[in-house]
Amino acid sequence: MKQEEFDKLKKAGEIAQKVIAYAKEIVKKEVPLLEIANKIDKKIEELGARPAFPVNLSINEVAAHFTPNFNDQKVAKGLIKVDIGIQIDGYVADTAFSIDLDNSEENKKLIEAAKIGLDAALEKFGVGVEIGEIGAAVEEAIKEKGFVPVRNLTGHQIKRFDLHAGMSIPSYATSQTEKLEEGVYAVEPFSTNGAGRVRDGNPSNIYHLTNEGNVRDNFARKVLNFIKEEYSSLPFCSRWIYNEFGSKGILALRQIEQAGLLHHYPQLVEMNRGIVAQAEHTIILKGNEKIITTKN
Ligand code: MN
Ligand code: MN
Repeated sequence: MKQEEFDKLKKAGEIAQKVIAYAKEIVKKEVPLLEIANKIDKKIEELGARPAFPVNLSINEVAAHFTPNFNDQKVAKGLIKVDIGIQIDGYVADTAFSIDLDNSEENKKLIEAAKIGLDAALEKFGVGVEIGEIGAAVEEAIKEKGFVPVRNLTGHQIKRFDLHAGMSIPSYATSQTEKLEEGVYAVEPFSTNGAGRVRDGNPSNIYHLTNEGNVRDNFARKVLNFIKEEYSSLPFCSRWIYNEFGSKGILALRQIEQAGLLHHYPQLVEMNRGIVAQAEHTIILKGNEKIITTKN
């Protein structure tokens, strides 16, 4: 890894820490999710970075991939997962925390379990370690707290402008003997009092560009070019398109989707509607060193 690359990853991690600290101040019960998301977007911009994906504000049984739409009326409540991505020149920091807005003992225990699962994974992490062993450490830690990990959500390797690249990091014991290599990883266990699996739910209004190609309509083409330039292959959301182009932008987005150029992420919902907590950090493996960029 080049020094310049390393520096940008570190910087993205430092900014992510500041945004997380800010999010912890503003995420309160009954505050509109749209207000929280817009404030977080603004904070990222003020700090001189860009989002690597739209902030996820997923509540209770929704494990991931909820971001408010431009006209969303929902407010913060329950167990909310705040998942933030920061990029500098395509170098990404990906980090999340969970907060209980219901003063629920069960929620607090779930949050603790996800954190302990993450600590166990980070402790074990290192070049040459089998990924199955990482998963086993996470599963053991979460089960000790009386919950189960979500098995079909994984951590992931990160490359430049590529959020989910290469290796996946399991959150339960597997027989995978693939070994960790030098690189950047997001480690993100989810704990639940449900079945330990998620299914696809409603559309999220989060997309990423998947295919080359064009659209016939002039205005839609303008929106498509904007998406290419602003987000490259990283995820974006309809809220951002609305902020730039208004409701015409939403129509254009639909045309781009219909032309088959986008992946539309579904919300991910716990199979038994169990409550889900998440904890996440980004870690760089470089020789014998491990640097958690999103933690000081
Ligand atoms: Mn994340
Ligand atoms: Mn992630």
